[in-house]
Amino acid sequence: MSVPFRAVHQIARPTGRPTADLFAFVDGELPAPAAGTALIENAFLSVDPYMVGLLDEEEGGYPLNAPLEGRAVGRVVESRSTALPVGTAVIHREGWRTHALVTPEQVRVLPELPGVPLSAHLGILGGTGLSAYVGLTRVAGLKPGEDLFVSAAAGGVGTAAGQLARLLGARRVVGSAGSAAKTAFLTGELGFDAAFDYHDGPVAELLAAAAPDGIDVYLDNVGGEHLEAAIGAMRDFGRIAWCGAISQYGVATPPPAAPHNLFELVTRSIRLEGFLVRHHMDAQQELYALLAPHLRSGRVLSPQTVLDGFDRTVEAFLGVLAGANTGKMLVEI
Ligand code: NAP
Repeated sequence: MSVPFRAVHQIARPTGRPTADLFAFVDGELPAPAAGTALIENAFLSVDPYMVGLLDEEEGGYPLNAPLEGRAVGRVVESRSTALPVGTAVIHREGWRTHALVTPEQVRVLPELPGVPLSAHLGILGGTGLSAYVGLTRVAGLKPGEDLFVSAAAGGVGTAAGQLARLLGARRVVGSAGSAAKTAFLTGELGFDAAFDYHDGPVAELLAAAAPDGIDVYLDNVGGEHLEAAIGAMRDFGRIAWCGAISQYGVATPPPAAPHNLFELVTRSIRLEGFLVRHHMDAQQELYALLAPHLRSGRVLSPQTVLDGFDRTVEAFLGVLAGANTGKMLVEI
């Protein structure tokens, strides 16, 4: 039997920050699964800042008038594949849609982790948490007793990074975020030692007050003024794991990409290294092993902002760019 589904298509290219009129909701029908395939009913969709860069690239970006690529978790509801029995939980990138027909190669079967919600696989246990984990461990080599600064600290990667740093033995954990409510959440509920609202003054001054003795590791999600301030606050032999630069995404006049104080990397033997989480998928099992017990016990939280209903997908995407989220931004279908 065919199944009705709804998808989000990109229908126009942006000029500057993405707006709602670039997208359209499109209804269709999926045929019953053919041999070797299965029908997935999505439960949660991820909306991610990196998608901005793919909206305006004529080559290599999203094709117009097709479902957007994007991560989702869901369960098999109909199957003609022995590898994907009905009820199996999967994660896939078939895009912003309610249902998808997939082969086993197009999905990753999720482990059933008792006491851990499915949505965590798009947040702290998924690519978001893995970015924080890889940034702190493989890229920055955070050691017990060292001090961390993370920007966009109240977002998906940031909330994961602060909590992971604690598990990894960090001494002082400092974050920046875009509102007083977010900084209160970081210090009150997530165990950050200090947090500041970057709107309250020059970031260098706010960081100097929050981390008066300097920092050893910076996980950069923002770029621009934040990166420059973090270089200024770095101790000798500090490390910067450059994860993202949201202050520069889709902005008509972005801040200078290169900080003015770059030469301080030389004078204080600081290492700056960018990374993409997709080159580190082999760390996924390590992340499960580290976090699953703490998620079950409640020592680690999986903060998320969930908009209810597929029709709010575009709102959620525009919202994550504007800071409407605390924790990972998701859509529940
Ligand atoms: P997120 O942090 O949950 O959401 C983005 C946050 O950025 C917003 O909530 C907003 O919070 C903040 N923001 C927006 N504009 C800003 C600005 N001009 N200055 C400072 N903060 C701003 O998103 P995420 O998915 O966890 O991603 C965080 C970063 O990691 C992004 O840069 C993303 O591209 C990057 N990333 C990289 C990889 C990789 O493989 N390298 C993988 C995943 C994510 P406020 O209210 O605090 O402003």
